[in-house]
Amino acid sequence: MCDHKRFESKVSVFRLTGQDDLEYVTGYTTDIRIRCADCGYPFEFIGLPGGVNPKHPTVNADNTELRAPIRPARNPDTEQEHWPAIEKKQE
Ligand SMILES: [Zn+2]
Repeated sequence: MCDHKRFESKVSVFRLTGQDDLEYVTGYTTDIRIRCADCGYPFEFIGLPGGVNPKHPTVNADNTELRAPIRPARNPDTEQEHWPAIEKKQE
């Protein structure tokens, strides 16, 4: 029996765009999977609802994929986000 001492992860990051303008970025999301590097056994994410939601993290049906909305980090000095695509649209 494996003690699951080493891990592998797969992280995918996606840009969410408008339906009519694929260059208009409305947000970002990431999908994360973790498994044991020795035996390949998948790990589950605990305590999150299932499905897909642009406002909060969720998991897939067997809890092995974390789906989380993300964004560019805020500047700690100004607390402002950097959203160049939205700024460009508002001009
Ligand atoms: Zn293992």
